[in-house]
Amino acid sequence: MTVERTIESIVIAGAGLAGATAARTLRSEGYQGRISLIGAELHHPYLRPPLSKEYLLGRAGEDAIPVAPEAWYSENDVDLRLGVTVAAVDPGPHTVHLSSGESVGYDALLLATGALPRHVRLPGSGLDGVATFRTLDDCRRLREQLAPGGKNVVMIGSGWIGMELAAAATAYGNQVTLLGLEDIPLAAAIGPELGTFFRSLHEANGVRFRLGATAAELRGDAGRVTAVVTGTGEILPADVVVVAVGVAPDTSLAEAAGLVIDNGILTDASLRTSAPDIFAAGDVANALHPFTGQHHRSEHWSNALNGGKIAAKTMLGQEATLATIPYFYTDQYDISMEYSGFPALAAGAEPVIRGTLAGKEFIAFWQHEGRVVAGMNVNVPRTQKAIKALISSRATIKPGRLADPSAALDQLLAD
Ligand SMILES: Cc1cc2nc3c(=O)[nH]c(=O)nc-3n(C[C@H](O)[C@H](O)[C@H](O)COP(=O)(O)OP(=O)(O)OC[C@H]3O[C@@H](n4cnc5c(N)ncnc54)[C@H](O)[C@@H]3O)c2cc1C
Repeated sequence: MTVERTIESIVIAGAGLAGATAARTLRSEGYQGRISLIGAELHHPYLRPPLSKEYLLGRAGEDAIPVAPEAWYSENDVDLRLGVTVAAVDPGPHTVHLSSGESVGYDALLLATGALPRHVRLPGSGLDGVATFRTLDDCRRLREQLAPGGKNVVMIGSGWIGMELAAAATAYGNQVTLLGLEDIPLAAAIGPELGTFFRSLHEANGVRFRLGATAAELRGDAGRVTAVVTGTGEILPADVVVVAVGVAPDTSLAEAAGLVIDNGILTDASLRTSAPDIFAAGDVANALHPFTGQHHRSEHWSNALNGGKIAAKTMLGQEATLATIPYFYTDQYDISMEYSGFPALAAGAEPVIRGTLAGKEFIAFWQHEGRVVAGMNVNVPRTQKAIKALISSRATIKPGRLADPSAALDQLLAD
């Protein structure tokens, strides 16, 4: 027997993409009760992907980043509090306590607190000119520093964000050195062959790499950074240092409330947490994925978007599961890349390549037990639908067919 609950007050902690999308979905689904959307940042909800790409480069303006027009929140009677945090959750009485001193009762609570950049604790990491990169304010500060060009920029971290920032800094005419722990950048994510492809792309654009390398110390003068000293004692001149060594899910609120945490807030496929009437979505949620039967925490835009929608529907008592195939994209120099799939299943598999890396136009497929589990298209637009269909089908496909450019992707399933 299902018990009908009356939902009159929904609180959303975190006004990022997942939180704001949940608010939008609640209204589009016809929910007329109270929505309190609480955001620690001072800005209306915005998209982060442009911050390391076209917005940082000044090629897209302010209209490229909002999740919804600013007026949408008041027009749709969403109580949006900016610069306010949810300081504590009291799951028993269903109440949240805000940093403003107020308390708000909830019938359903969504935790969409996102992720926080990891720091490296090094001598000198507090110097001016050294920063992590996550927010619109970080982006505006970095743009001011990079835009004049002619600076020495050291990027600590050779993951996707470090690589995108390196591309942007280079486009502004700065000299970039990328410091990475891995011997080949991105190798853990996409393997050595494709990691080398991205490394070569950056080198062709003037980026220098120090790989298998650590930063040991940051040196400065009059409070401002002047150099990064590597673990081997090399001194890299630096006017700007960005620490881009990944993020960690911001679980502090959930942990204090006693929720089950395991690499993020653990949820079922409908984004319910271990506590009644508390849900989680976006970067902070480690959700059960129906396709793999395993938990999967994704730090990508599409997961925050889809998760926000699913959490809203679940909060309203609808049957909904987050079953979409994980997806993300990156743009660097003249490269536009999209990736769909399950990195955990693809790990260690040799990619099957359709096209040529040298021609910068190819699709890479990863297989597990003969089935396609991930696919990445580089400068081959409009292929994601077919890649996702191959993954969803669980069909066994011969590598030769995957690699054969004369075999249309949407025909492979008919073979
Ligand atoms: C520079 C950059 C570039 C990216 N590029 C891509 C890309 O190209 N492709 C891609 O797929 N993904 C990309 N991503 C990842 C994508 O942006 C994230 O996956 C997405 O933003 C996650 O959304 P979220 O709502 O879960 O969390 P967030 O965007 O982190 O939002 C959470 C919000 O909650 C707030 N908050 C935290 N705690 C509280 C609290 N207690 N009370 C109130 N508010 C709180 C935070 O301040 C934050 O504003 C990028 C991320 C960054 C930073």
